[in-house]
Amino acid sequence: MSNVIIFGAPGSGKGTQSRLMHSHLGFKQISTGDLLRAEVESGSEVGAMCENLMAHGKFPENDIIYGLVTKYLESNSSSKGFVFDGFPRTVEQAKFLLGYLAEKSKKIDVVLKIEVKQELLVKRIVDRFTCKDCGEIYNKHFKRTSVEGLCDKCGGSSFSSRSDDTESTVKTRLNIYDQSTLPVVEFLESKNTKIVSIDGMKSETEVFDEIKAVMA
Ligand code: AMP
Repeated sequence: MSNVIIFGAPGSGKGTQSRLMHSHLGFKQISTGDLLRAEVESGSEVGAMCENLMAHGKFPENDIIYGLVTKYLESNSSSKGFVFDGFPRTVEQAKFLLGYLAEKSKKIDVVLKIEVKQELLVKRIVDRFTCKDCGEIYNKHFKRTSVEGLCDKCGGSSFSSRSDDTESTVKTRLNIYDQSTLPVVEFLESKNTKIVSIDGMKSETEVFDEIKAVMA
């Protein structure tokens, strides 16, 4: 088992693929977006500091992110491999993660870079919704529930949309991805980390088949 970073713009399907890697390949998924949303939902002090920034696609302070990441990694330290979803998002965060792993004699074994054309990203994001019970991600056009109003995975009937999945916030998030997050790939490459590009325009199953082939 290994440690993987999954990169991709908002709407590239990185959340969905990380969840599949978790349920089918045994990776522990660590999504900083999910950890932050849980803080907001719980009404914690950290959540209150992040809520407005996140609603506008902006980043909370690194110290908050590092605190959530290290707490999660430490409380799941028996896991053999992690898939990092949405972290690191800046070169500074990447340096932090490599340093943290090096102290534990661990490393990032591979970076999966999911590539999707920009025009499709916006459509995928503004029309997506999530099952409140199991977290399965759907889309009004590309991935509807088989039975109207019922989650295919768990049968739940409550769904929610993210407050940052609006057209204007998506544009900010895509710009931030290009400016701050894409340089992380180059940085990791300069540290001799293996980078593999994945065609994210294909179906969910086909993308996952490509990922499985890389991880085999
Ligand atoms: P995501 O679920 O990965 O799309 O993240 C949703 C939002 O959470 C982002 O737009 C940021 O506001 C915040 N966020 C998630 N991960 C990070 C991170 N590593 N650093 C800073 N902000 C983050």
